[in-house]
Amino acid sequence: MRIAVLTSGGDAPGMNSAIRAVVRAGLYYGIEVYGVYDGYRGLVAGNFEKMTRKSVSEILSRGGTVLGTARMTSFQQKEVREIAIENLRKEGIEALIVIGGDGSYKGALALNEMGFPTIGVPGTIDNDLGGTDYTIGFHTALATIVDAVDKLRDTASSHQRCSIVETMGRHCGDLAIAAGLSCGAEFIITPEHPMDKEKMIENLKKHKLEGRRNAIIMITENTTNVYELAQEISERSGFACRATVLGYVQRGGSPVAEDRILAGRMGAYAVELIKQGISGVAVGVSHNDLVYMPYEKALDRDRGSMQDLYELIGKIS
Ligand code: ATP
Repeated sequence: MRIAVLTSGGDAPGMNSAIRAVVRAGLYYGIEVYGVYDGYRGLVAGNFEKMTRKSVSEILSRGGTVLGTARMTSFQQKEVREIAIENLRKEGIEALIVIGGDGSYKGALALNEMGFPTIGVPGTIDNDLGGTDYTIGFHTALATIVDAVDKLRDTASSHQRCSIVETMGRHCGDLAIAAGLSCGAEFIITPEHPMDKEKMIENLKKHKLEGRRNAIIMITENTTNVYELAQEISERSGFACRATVLGYVQRGGSPVAEDRILAGRMGAYAVELIKQGISGVAVGVSHNDLVYMPYEKALDRDRGSMQDLYELIGKIS
């Protein structure tokens, strides 16, 4: 049997660990694995190559993806996907593993509906897919944010400032909430937990009067203009406030052990499902067990899943 693997959408730390697991599990089960370069673009261009044990040596600890990734809007067109399927069949490839986020899953679902078997593996730092407790990359991005916020707090405290930190997450607040709990942030603003600006400013005034030396506000991207907010807080609360947008540093770096383990388990599991003749599903982890589900279930969420952590922050911050 011959299968292929690609990475698509935004890169995430741990994608390489997942690629390695797919290739090595394939070899273990006597399955040939082809690597597709640059996501769906490589599929349409026929840009793939047979992977060996050696082609995935020494990639486990590297961030990004050795296969490259891309965004290709035209893949939404059926005629473009037909070319991709033709290219796969020409090489005798019988199934495709797609490592990516929700957009990548939509592409994988569309291929499956056209009769080409696919399996999705959740690779995105945003943790915005359904049916899985965690996506590959989330824990590494979280560790990067926590490290940055700890540093920002040192400066905020020295200068008696309030610090706004904008995280990634797209429409999902999980990164901001988990980082907020890890760093003892005073305020968390996410798509699921919108800002009550007046209450926050009142609280900041109180903090200032109590002699607190700093405050951290964690905000998910696409929520508000953090620079304007910092200015308003400075003017109205008496706390000098600075905003930091962490940006792409959150996407890079060597994956932490949690992501390597998750990627290893999920990559191998995807191969095992194909071996059993199962396709048209996405894999996930639920209560530490590997699970699989229809793409529709995985796509049925782009909002946060960490309500319990959010409530805990309310109690202990
Ligand atoms: P991230 O969450 O990290 O941004 P993603 O997988 O959601 O990752 P997208 O850019 O949304 O990233 O999607 C990746 C690619 O999947 C797109 O560039 C496109 O090629 C393909 N894709 C997205 N939506 C569809 C769709 N409705 N039908 C077919 N293909 C799609």
